[in-house]
Amino acid sequence: MTISEAIIRNAAALLNQGKLVAFPTETVYGLGADARNADAVAKIYTAKGRPSNNPLIVHIHSVEQIETYADLSMSWNPIVVKEWISKLAPLWPGPLSVVLPRGMAIAQNVSAGGSSVALRIPNHPLALELLKAFNGPIAAPSANPSNYVSPTTAQHVRDGLGERVDSVLDGGPCAVGLESTVVSLLQETPKVLRPGAITIEMLEAILGSRVEGPSSQKAVEGLTLHSPGLLAKHYSPRTKVVLRSSLSDSSQLPPRIGVLLFSSWKPQFPTVKTVALSSCGDLEEVAARLFGALRELDDAGLDLIVSDECEPIGLGEAIMDRLTRASHK
Ligand code: AMP
Ligand code: MG
Repeated sequence: MTISEAIIRNAAALLNQGKLVAFPTETVYGLGADARNADAVAKIYTAKGRPSNNPLIVHIHSVEQIETYADLSMSWNPIVVKEWISKLAPLWPGPLSVVLPRGMAIAQNVSAGGSSVALRIPNHPLALELLKAFNGPIAAPSANPSNYVSPTTAQHVRDGLGERVDSVLDGGPCAVGLESTVVSLLQETPKVLRPGAITIEMLEAILGSRVEGPSSQKAVEGLTLHSPGLLAKHYSPRTKVVLRSSLSDSSQLPPRIGVLLFSSWKPQFPTVKTVALSSCGDLEEVAARLFGALRELDDAGLDLIVSDECEPIGLGEAIMDRLTRASHK
């Protein structure tokens, strides 16, 4: 047995004992628990301080497992939904979660009071090895205290959750860096609840049908959320964040300002720290480094973080979604 096999086996054993294991995915690090074990799932909510009306994504290792953990017979149209799943299959493993009626095997608290479950196959060798060794569904939201910036390195997980997690698998920095696209297949028109690296345009092309965007939705505090990513304030550093378009000439600026830069924009005010995400405006590079940069700025003792912006098109939609939520007052 190699060292990494032993580490994976140990992590799978911890999950079997109802413990919490953080692991890397291509999007962000997940805080995992056995999705069939309600007590283990409850520990995720406690460790994150996550509101109990905020459902969890369940990770699986193969498309075949979708029918094990979702109950497609309860779909609005099982034949159409099965067709959609076969069309989406080439996107997995990848940063796409599908919302379907919850199967019997999944603990109820995964759905936070609802009857649906979000499923995805993560594209990361360690995550897939863990899923195969465990051979069960792993519920895993981002491995950070609720509402804070998602973790894209193992150190971010340790910084945020410390002793509250039983083990952290270190797979290096996450390649995508933004949470998965969440698409609901619960109704006649598929609906993106949270934008991510798999864009609406990609989904429309692969499904050959219209896909509704997230913009039409409003989060209603206190009700079961369609998708927790819909909270107006989320993914946010402790330091106040503003988008550069919200600044006016007359804005009263504090002394210590940090800037998050990813275009040719040149701030016309004094700054004490600048983090540039991509020298050529490459949005994939911006996405991969965004959360790490927000944490770096948040740790710099600033009064204000001013963020650059991009067109909310393609991957730019997910980037601006996260920055808009981070800057929400
Ligand atoms: P996190 O991984 O911490 O960002 O949180 C999990 C994400 O999963 C949320 O942002 C939701 O978008 C999504 N999600 C999980 N389960 C469901 C569900 N049953 N219905 C809708 N969205 C869900
Ligand atoms: Mg999260």
